[in-house]
Order: sequence, then C-alpha cells, then structure tokens
Amino acid sequence: MNGKKTSVAIIGGGISGLVCAARLSQLGITDSIVFDTGKHAPGGRCSSRFINIEGKLHIFDHAVQFFTVSDPRFAKIVSFLHSKGAVKVWPGKIVHLKPGRKPTEVKNMQAFIGTRGMQAVPECLSTLVHMEGNKWVSSVHWDSSMKKWKVDDHGWFDYLVVAHNGKCAARLMADAGTPQIHNLLKVKFGPVLLPRTNVMQLCSLWVLLFALPQKIEVDFDGAFVEHSDISWIGNNTSKYNTENKMSCWTVISSKTFGANNKVPQELIPPLKEKEVISLLLNGFAELTGINRQLITPCFTKVQLWGAANPLNVLQDEECVFQSSHNVGICGDWLVSPSVEGAAISGLALAEVINQHVNGASKDVGLKKHLEPVKTEAIGAFPTNKSLFFKSAK
Ligand SMILES: Cc1cc2nc3c(=O)[nH]c(=O)nc-3n(C[C@H](O)[C@H](O)[C@H](O)COP(=O)(O)OP(=O)(O)OC[C@H]3O[C@@H](n4cnc5c(N)ncnc54)[C@H](O)[C@@H]3O)c2cc1C
Repeated sequence: MNGKKTSVAIIGGGISGLVCAARLSQLGITDSIVFDTGKHAPGGRCSSRFINIEGKLHIFDHAVQFFTVSDPRFAKIVSFLHSKGAVKVWPGKIVHLKPGRKPTEVKNMQAFIGTRGMQAVPECLSTLVHMEGNKWVSSVHWDSSMKKWKVDDHGWFDYLVVAHNGKCAARLMADAGTPQIHNLLKVKFGPVLLPRTNVMQLCSLWVLLFALPQKIEVDFDGAFVEHSDISWIGNNTSKYNTENKMSCWTVISSKTFGANNKVPQELIPPLKEKEVISLLLNGFAELTGINRQLITPCFTKVQLWGAANPLNVLQDEECVFQSSHNVGICGDWLVSPSVEGAAISGLALAEVINQHVNGASKDVGLKKHLEPVKTEAIGAFPTNKSLFFKSAK
C-alpha cells in the first residue's frame, strides 16, 4: 500500500479513537475519519455537561472525574494537552471514605483535569483529526476482492478501527466477516466478574449530578467511597474554582447499586429516577455528615451508564489487529479502564496499522485472554503509580 494514500475509518470518538487518529496523522496517515455519535462534542465517557442554572453555566463532569499518568507514552500526550491549555493539575484534596470512619487522604498522586471540564481533553484532541460528529455507524462490510471496508454510505476505507465496546460494537461486527474480531467484542454485564470467564464483562453505574443553592462544609474535593451505594463524590465547584454561591456535585454509584437498579438507559422510568436521586442523596448526607434536611438541591439530573467500565482487560496486548482484514480494535478494555488506558490502546493500534501499511504483516491480540482489572477506583484507573510533572500547574 506504500506510496498510496491510506484511508482509515475509526468508529468511536472517545479518547482511544481520537488518540489513534491523531497518532496516525502524525505518522503520515492523514486520510482517516473519526465517526462519533456525540451530538455536541466527541469524548464518549470523557465528557462534561454544561448546565444553565439560574442564568449561569455550571460544569459537571458526568463520567471521568480526573486522570493520572503512569506511562511515559501517555505523559507525552498529557504534555501536549498541557501545552495547549487543555489540562491542568488538580490540587484538590482527594480522600478515601467509609461510612462512619474518618476520611484518609490519598497521598502521592498527581491528578489531572480538563481546564473547562474533562470535555477539554477530547475537544483538544479533536482539533488534530477529521471528525464526523453526530454519526451513528450502523453497518460495515469487508470486500475481500477490493480489500476495503465499506462504512454505511460514507464510502470505502483501507482500514477499519473499532474504537468502542458494549453491545453495539458486538452487533456492528456480528456479520462483518471477521468472526475472531466479533468473538473478542462479545460482552456480558454484571457488578462482579464471573469466575474463569474469558468474555468481556462491563458494569453499570448511575451518576447523580446536583446543585445546592449554597456552599456546604465538606472536608474534601473528591472522595473514593467504599462499603456504600456510592463509589465517588466530587465537588465540581471547588474543582473548577467557579465563582459561585452554589455548589455543584457529582455522585457515582457503586457497581452493585448500578446492577440492582438497572433499567433501559435511554428510557429511565420517572419513578426509578426519583428513587435513585433519593437513595444517592441519602448516601451523600450519610457520608458527608450533613443533615439530610439541609440537602435541598435546586437542580438534579441522573444518568445511567449501562456499559460503564470493564471488569476484565486483555492480557499481554494493548490493541487488537487482524492483518488479513485490515481491521483493529482499540479501547480502555484492552489496557485499563481509564483515560490513560484508552489513550495507550489508541496509540498502540496506530503504530500497528502504520507498520502494516509499511509491509509488516502481524496479527495482534487475536488470542483472547482476558484478566481481571486490578484496581477498584471508579473506572479502576491507577492512583498509586503516578508519574509527576514538576512543571505542570
Ligand atoms: C462513571 C464513570 C466514571 C469514570 N471515571 C474515570 C476517572 O475518574 N478517571 C479515568 O481515568 N477514567 C474514568 N472512567 C473510565 C473512562 O471514562 C474510560 O476508560 C475512557 O473514557 C474510555 O475511552 P474509550 O475511547 O475506550 O471509549 P468511549 O469513551 O466509550 O468512546 C467510545 C465512543 O464511541 C461512540 N460510539 C459507539 N458506537 C458507535 C457507533 N456505532 N458509531 C459511532 N460512534 C459510536 C460512543 O458514543 C463513544 O463516544 C470512568 C468511566 C465512567 C463510566
């Protein structure tokens, strides 16, 4: 394929798809398109909501809360994002919290956040790539004589990248003529990893966003919670230093709570919505020690991430590539359920595609060996082995 323009269709504009496209472009493969369902912006699970409450816009991070850096390859990406003013260090106090116990502070961790919500990260990456937003890709087809992929009615591409997971990815690849790729994308759901399973398993998480008309006294900016219906509490107002008399909070449920209260995420029954809001506000009151009567939000919104985070990841390889069909997979579930894991996977796949374009013919990761995710923090991202950027502010 040398000397010819190589085209790549990337289905999914989360961190993995965006990083994959950006690295391909850096390697000289500039004819790639990222298709993403996002109506307003790309980013997938790394995005924010900007909510108008009483005439003022407030930032709420509704999935990723912050990220850490442990891999030098990711450190380079973060340096780039930092140079573009898209990320900054979060000096906030982050604690571990158990009901009825004193919080203990998380030490030796450098946390990064977007400068305008976590949304700033995908927004910055998307300036490097060709994005087709608000596009749901519903069918892909491999033509073995042309050796090209047809992507809906968007034309033919030399390579296909599946940069998302969950039921839609498995469905998309079910009849694509690549059973090994389809097999890898099969998925089960549940809060606890099934024993000896070799199938990707995802958990579901509820997220409650709420605003209180006043500031409240809480001795942390973010808390990892154990033994509760809640797994994380984050103060968006202190995080983004918004001059604000209100306080805007994100509460993420536990995996068990997610499973016990599962409903169709696109069609949450109003009664369930009310129940979840009430249960998570009760949990918030209990954990922060604030009188429940004083927690009277002027805004609430709940969201169910049905396919929130993987409980197992691919062993040994950081991406998947089938050289006979010019098709690859990237995503957090191949490395670790985190911004860093997703970025590393996208980066790795771009390198493999570039090598293939230049004549190397190697399959990667097709032998499916999944292993349990090792850490427990929200998306199970590393909090214990951060690389520190001395100059980052
Ligand atoms: C509640 C929650 C909290 C989290 N907190 C943290 C945290 O604090 N720190 C951290 O590091 N990580 C956290 N994570 C994990 C982190 O969000 C993910 O690991 C990471 O964002 C995954 O990126 P990705 O590119 O692999 O996938 P995704 O972000 O899922 O991107 C896939 C994209 O593909 C799109 N798509 C799907 N199907 C199609 C289709 N057919 N056509 C076009 N587009 C399609 C989707 O809409 C999506 O935009 C959290 C996750 C959740 C759910």
